[in-house]
Amino acid sequence: YAGISLQPNAGSQGEYAGLLAIRGWHASRGESHRNICLIPSSAHGTNPASAQMVGLQVVVTKCDENGNVDMADLKAKCEQHSANLAAVMITYPSTHGVFETTVKELCALVHQHGGRVYVDGANMNALVGVAAPGEFGGDVSHLNLHKTFCIPHGGGGPGVGPVCVVEDLVPFLPGHGRGAEPGGVCDTPASAHAVGAVSAAPLGNAAVLPISWMYIRMMGADGLKHATEAAILSANYISKRLADHYPTLYASANGHVAHECILDLRQLKETSGVMAEDVAKRLMDYGFHAPTLSFPVANTLMVEPTESETLEELDRFIDAMIAIREEVRRIEKGEWPQDDNPLKNAPHTADSLMNADWPHPYGRDVGAASQSTRAHAKYWPPVGRIDNVYGDRNLFCSCVPVSELA
Ligand SMILES: *Cc1c(COP(=O)(O)O)cnc(C)c1O
Repeated sequence: YAGISLQPNAGSQGEYAGLLAIRGWHASRGESHRNICLIPSSAHGTNPASAQMVGLQVVVTKCDENGNVDMADLKAKCEQHSANLAAVMITYPSTHGVFETTVKELCALVHQHGGRVYVDGANMNALVGVAAPGEFGGDVSHLNLHKTFCIPHGGGGPGVGPVCVVEDLVPFLPGHGRGAEPGGVCDTPASAHAVGAVSAAPLGNAAVLPISWMYIRMMGADGLKHATEAAILSANYISKRLADHYPTLYASANGHVAHECILDLRQLKETSGVMAEDVAKRLMDYGFHAPTLSFPVANTLMVEPTESETLEELDRFIDAMIAIREEVRRIEKGEWPQDDNPLKNAPHTADSLMNADWPHPYGRDVGAASQSTRAHAKYWPPVGRIDNVYGDRNLFCSCVPVSELA
């Protein structure tokens, strides 16, 4: 890519800025009527949200049974909307955890119809040092420094979502009323600028950028490439070792995944009444924060180990997942009822396990998963099962009213 703006404070803001650049570019050529944005159904929710925010009309395109963009459908929609096509947003490798082999053709097709290609860079963990979106046809991408480049983002921030563009889109990167910055990062006064600012500070969350800078410097080019390779290897290791217990939903033709794998738990509902959420909660008893639940496919777990976990930690996770699958088998065999078993009652607090009254058909040690977790590392969940859906639908504030502080 030829230019970059550090202004966006999140990947989603990078998308917003990148789509503004695309709109600005179309407008500069007298083509502001181009307002269609094609987005495959496998996309992250921020993609359609950002497109809506810049005033584009979202048209969703299909995925095939392997999780890839359905090229026939994309082609049909490119043709149908050719005169008004503004952009296509794709994620590579996709949110389904596969490297789509048709990505180059896809980019060329969109260009043929006058649209620009937004490659969502949230999965750069599978690309750094190995492939570059600008090389295979992307026009704009954001990076998520808080995903790929080490900025800690537990608890919601701070994020940095730099947006990168090809040469002819550089003039449409965010500007800022605060004026020139040495180094040319945002050197266009807002008044003269086609797009304007996307965040309050000219360089966004500048104070956390040294973290990414240090990471890159310390890893070096070889180290970064190695991290990518380890991330891909780790995901494939998990996918293969768990294959007999939980099939991986999407893989490429050679059976491999990219940097993440979607474990398909959907068949368990019929055989045991167990849902992915029960497995997620049970993992807490085994000392794990669950992987991504029910995204992008309902009732699955998406595991993205990254390069950060040791082989020992990967094995600990895999062993816990296998042990949980064995528990599901006992439900399948009828040893435990579908509504009273270690999965449905997970997570188990110390309090609930020590209660004099223990009405369940399995032992307290089973509930605690104490046989399967290393005693010195046993994690005790502080809160039992809550009703997530109820919580999501009934938001209430438990802070002191402002009047109390007056
Ligand atoms: C995380 C993510 C985003 C959004 O990034 P934020 O920094 O959370 O706004 C967009 N697309 C994909 C594929 C992602 O995984």
